[in-house]
Amino acid sequence: MTGLVPETVAASDAAPLFKVAPNLLPIAGEARTFPVRRIYCIGRNYPDHAKEMGADPKTEPPFFFQKASDAAQIVPAGVTVEHPYPPLTANYHYELELVAVLKSGGRNIPVAAALDHVFGYAVGLDMTRRDLQQAMKDQRKPWEIGKSFDHSAPIGPIFAAVETGHFTKGAIRLSVNGVVKQEDDLASMIWSVAEQISKLSESSELVAGDIIFSGTPAGVGPVGRGDVLTGHIDGLPDLTIKIV
Ligand code: MN
Repeated sequence: MTGLVPETVAASDAAPLFKVAPNLLPIAGEARTFPVRRIYCIGRNYPDHAKEMGADPKTEPPFFFQKASDAAQIVPAGVTVEHPYPPLTANYHYELELVAVLKSGGRNIPVAAALDHVFGYAVGLDMTRRDLQQAMKDQRKPWEIGKSFDHSAPIGPIFAAVETGHFTKGAIRLSVNGVVKQEDDLASMIWSVAEQISKLSESSELVAGDIIFSGTPAGVGPVGRGDVLTGHIDGLPDLTIKIV
């Protein structure tokens, strides 16, 4: 047995009833695209953000959630992309994050080998319907509705790690209408990208096409229609969206 995914995908030669559009992300300097399988996200991974969310960053093990893989919204470099304000929320938050994308995977991946599976990196936004997330937390229900919805994962072009190196430090900064709201360093992450890959692979087999949002710094907050959000991570082009 080589893994669950090839077996299930190759189970039948029969034609599908209809086609489902693949989720393809652009890769900088490449004619080929990056097909997304799953979007994983780590929660509360910068100490100051964990505190602002009411958690103790020193005692909490890492935890993850998923967004629907078609929630990725492509944001080309140098372009301001219109981002629709989603339904059902009156407290819509940005979370700027480094995204690592995998070219391979496995189970129980050791931390020391984890970065070998990273194809590259991108700037991403883990957009969040905070009021819905909080209401579901309060009711002890799953808070998926706060995190996984159409366009909830804007993402810039992917840059290959062979070109950029791996991102373990460097400024991460989000501005709203030119005012800095989030500012920290990737080195502040409680769990590194390598540790996240290792930990995720204990829970599920990781596979090429899986992408990981690596957590957000402190300073999350609400935005409304007309606001322009600019995400910066040292070494990657800025990501800009306008809420419409
Ligand atoms: Mn997040």
